Amino acid sequence: MRTTGDLSKMDPKVEQKRRYDSMMESDFGMFTKDDVNFDVINFENYHHYNVTITKRGRIKYSCDCPDFMNRCRILGIKCKHILFVEHDFQAYSDVSHKI
Ligand SMILES: [Zn+2]
Repeated sequence: MRTTGDLSKMDPKVEQKRRYDSMMESDFGMFTKDDVNFDVINFENYHHYNVTITKRGRIKYSCDCPDFMNRCRILGIKCKHILFVEHDFQAYSDVSHKI
């Protein structure tokens, strides 16, 4: 476990890209709980994460995974679970645009 002191040396853009690449290689699934809460499951270890995306006014993202709590939240980036929810929505809307 790294200390928070390392965060100041991290480039948010690099960290965001790293999480995006990691998300694309992960085996995730998603259940929509309601308008703002999403249950993301990692099928590799069956861990569940609660992602909240609030779109009232300014968009706010949160996730209850340790990476988001300890790093992403402070760096102002999205963890791979949040990225997955976004990616899933985008994939869905891309399909509907093509029809
Ligand atoms: Zn997360």
